Amino acid sequence: MILPKADKFTDEQYNEVLAILTEFGCSLTPIPGTTRTIYAIRGDERHELMINRLEGLPYVWKVDTIQSQYKLMDIKSELGKRPISIAGKILGNDLFVIAGQCTIDPKNPEYFMETAHAVKEAGADAIRGGVWKPRTSPHSYQGDSKAVEFLARAAKETGIPVCTEVMDESQLRIAIDAGSDLIQVGARNALNYALLKKIGELTAGKNILILLKRSMHMGPIDEFICAAEYIVAGGNPNVLLCPRGTVPTIDGYRNQPDESITPLLKQKTWAPVVVDPSHSVGKSIYVPHAALAAIAYGADGLCIETHVSPKNGIGDDPKQSITPDVLSEVIKDAKAIYDMKTKYQGYLPKFSTAAT
Ligand code: PEP
Ligand code: MN
Repeated sequence: MILPKADKFTDEQYNEVLAILTEFGCSLTPIPGTTRTIYAIRGDERHELMINRLEGLPYVWKVDTIQSQYKLMDIKSELGKRPISIAGKILGNDLFVIAGQCTIDPKNPEYFMETAHAVKEAGADAIRGGVWKPRTSPHSYQGDSKAVEFLARAAKETGIPVCTEVMDESQLRIAIDAGSDLIQVGARNALNYALLKKIGELTAGKNILILLKRSMHMGPIDEFICAAEYIVAGGNPNVLLCPRGTVPTIDGYRNQPDESITPLLKQKTWAPVVVDPSHSVGKSIYVPHAALAAIAYGADGLCIETHVSPKNGIGDDPKQSITPDVLSEVIKDAKAIYDMKTKYQGYLPKFSTAAT
């Protein structure tokens, strides 16, 4: 839809707009209103260059596109018909919980091994453990490839899947070789399109799930879905969307909790939503509330930082990890809320932008 700055285009302006549209195989239909005429674009309006050229015209106020730039992630895509499963669980049918340390401390790996067993005992479906860490300061602990050995050991000893974050291709290759069942793209790399593409390519056909965090700097919902589209277009359609809080607008929480976008995501895309309440609120005392709120908003799962002894942890663990006994309570209560979700299924109309 093209909105002119004036009440309507002059003939000359109309012809210039039409000439651009024609180049991209589209046409134009005027829709006259009482005071103003707007112009509908007919055809595939997803050409970025076409939109940019229209928006560059001095007499065009705004171009609103109905079609989005994601075809594969769209709720109507054929990909939505296939179940995403891990360790015998189908995402969307059963609550899925990833829990474990923010960071594996290679100097004290016994904590991580203990945490791995404890989160399984508490009811988690997968274990998280940071091998490489994206730290604000280059002087903070950056991670250590040696810690991958403990991740692999945790998978072997517990028999449940493991998840770790990668920030570049070499880490990705190491994580894949170590048998990571889930690979996390962290908030800082959610806009690193080259990495997203590479992850899609190198995990294609490997039955590895990608946990894509929402960048703290992302705005529109479509920006998040488009980031996931890169991974799917790269070759791996097993993407889980993970809201984890955006830049804070209030004092108190580490980030601005964004679990409330879950119903909006679910109207637009088939991807399961796994919320991270830990980075969202950033303090262990708030995590249970945020976790249960996420499930109430319709999330399919949770990713919660948990440590057997938070005060002895490194990275985020001392401030935001809950303990396995609290995790166990949260999982029980989350399941109770989760079981109510069928009541509201079908309540929301789906938004589809895919060509039918
Ligand atoms: C993490 O999971 O420890 C982490 C660094 O997450 P985020 O990318 O959401 O900050
Ligand atoms: Mn963390």
